[in-house]
Amino acid sequence: MRQKEKHIKIIKKIKNPVVDFAGKELIKYLKLAGLNQKIQITLNISKREDGQDHIDVKPDKNGYVITGSNNFSLLFGVYRFLNEIGFRWIRPGKRGEIIPKISRIKKNIKIKETASYKYRTICIEGASSFQHVRDIIDWAAKNGMNGYFIQFNYGKYFFKRWYEHLDNPYMKKEKFDDEMVKKIVDRVINEIKKRGMRLERMGHGWTCLTIGIEGEGWSKEGDLMEKIPEEKRNWLALIDGKRGFYRNIPLDTNLCYSNPAVRSAIVDKIVEYANQHSEVDAIHFWLADGSNNNCECDECKKKRVSDYYVMILNELDEKLKEKNILVKIVFLIYVDLLWPPEKEKIKNQDRFILMFAPITRSYLQSFADTEIEEGIKPYIKNKLEFPKSAGDNVLYLKKWQEIFKGEGVDFDYHLIWPCYYDLNHFTLAKVLYKDIVHLKNMNLCGFISCQNQRASFPTNFLMDVMAKTLWNRRIPFLKIVNESFSDAFGKKDAEKVVIFLKKMSDLSKPFFEPVFIPNVDEERIKEGIINIGKMKKLCEDFKNLIDKKVKSENGAVGWSWKYMKYYIKLLDFMLPAMESYLKRKQDCREKFEKLFDFLRKKEKILHPAFDVSTFIKVMQWRINEVEGRA
Ligand SMILES: [Zn+2]
Repeated sequence: MRQKEKHIKIIKKIKNPVVDFAGKELIKYLKLAGLNQKIQITLNISKREDGQDHIDVKPDKNGYVITGSNNFSLLFGVYRFLNEIGFRWIRPGKRGEIIPKISRIKKNIKIKETASYKYRTICIEGASSFQHVRDIIDWAAKNGMNGYFIQFNYGKYFFKRWYEHLDNPYMKKEKFDDEMVKKIVDRVINEIKKRGMRLERMGHGWTCLTIGIEGEGWSKEGDLMEKIPEEKRNWLALIDGKRGFYRNIPLDTNLCYSNPAVRSAIVDKIVEYANQHSEVDAIHFWLADGSNNNCECDECKKKRVSDYYVMILNELDEKLKEKNILVKIVFLIYVDLLWPPEKEKIKNQDRFILMFAPITRSYLQSFADTEIEEGIKPYIKNKLEFPKSAGDNVLYLKKWQEIFKGEGVDFDYHLIWPCYYDLNHFTLAKVLYKDIVHLKNMNLCGFISCQNQRASFPTNFLMDVMAKTLWNRRIPFLKIVNESFSDAFGKKDAEKVVIFLKKMSDLSKPFFEPVFIPNVDEERIKEGIINIGKMKKLCEDFKNLIDKKVKSENGAVGWSWKYMKYYIKLLDFMLPAMESYLKRKQDCREKFEKLFDFLRKKEKILHPAFDVSTFIKVMQWRINEVEGRA
């Protein structure tokens, strides 16, 4: 097959839509760079037994041969080749694209790389438009991440949060309904498939679908009992002597899993879904969200929740087998399910992927710093205490791994809340890096980042750490720092930005985590107040350089400096607010409100890089703490 484009000739050894897309991308970018050399580039796929993503770029007599071990790897091989000749995608969207001027491609580029981890996935969270999701999928592919996970069936609430702008009076509410979200998701799936990426879908919500109601988000509902058929009302978990919706949130309501009819009904829903959705590569099957919300009936009391969960997994596998459906099922080790089953065993282990989601962990320590603080706590149904240290969390995973030898991934939250505990990101970046490097030692083969889709403010550093380390766990942290900041701010000034953010991040450590809960920590409060003074001074000193660069730089690098300028302005509001927080002053809310008002006004400019609504939500937790409502 030949695709002629005057002087650039693409030879495709294999014909399929992803290879076509890879060829189009290659021509598009080489033309944008102004290449006027006669060159032939051959695209090929050579499968590998181990199923790992592998790329191979090498010169031949007419130009280059780019080979991938599968569709996605071939596409990523094209981007790695472009990267080698100067292209960069330093943040999602047009604002992140760096296109070099090239008249001739240098000779002797040789790349031979195999991904360190099989699953490198981004999961939707926060508030998102179609464009935000499209941009992050595009960025992910260009940076070696091979999967995208649409949480829930449509992820309706993530899109609703954006299009309705309920938390920003300066943004006009846009039209939004179920039809629209279905169209958006069709387009999102198209973007994923076009790039040969793995599509994952669902998660929580099966418990809702089983009793006949929608399970798309965490909304509180009015009297839903009316909507459930009489015979299914006793399917809801019995808690404190009553069967009903847990705190009136259907998504947080577990079912009575000891009831065989309940288990079969859940299984039938999943099988029905799998049957209708052959486009999905991995279906997530999680129980209800929330914790300590499981059924206390006499029958359910006899086993752990995880025992009943495994019974459902086995029944599910049987029924999928009957229908010849090969889809992978992702099961979740999370809150109450951290405690492994005592009696039941997973039979067909190849069907499943274990997903470890340590949501209650601290992000000041990494899995690599396996400090065991309390060990595994006793299992007391609905009175469970969850592990906080990263090391304690790993103990539960190990227990599960004694009975499950199949593939496993870490589903983690660095880029959803912790990224807002310290916007300088250096402290968290180090933890993220160490965590990913350490996954292999935990017998895990991947990472799903449950994250805001806009996570590039003030810099894209965390995203770079994630993608680069997942691709190559042997890459030194310092190399990522150098590449990320040189690309974003220019070689000459990168170090100044690094020094600034690093110092700011170190000074933020005392108040990275709450200082008033669970106990008042006077030492961190005292240190924090002193540090805020130092931070104000650092910002003052850094302003001049930023002002100068904002004027002289443009394109993607120009945007890096613009975002830094907004960041410093944000700190003008945020540092006094944090000071009020630490001093537990009356005006804490008022000061944070000023910060929020500033951000809401600037959201029109900042939104491609910054999820303003989720940031504000996280900052509210600090106000709640001061006001004693946390
Ligand atoms: Zn029960």
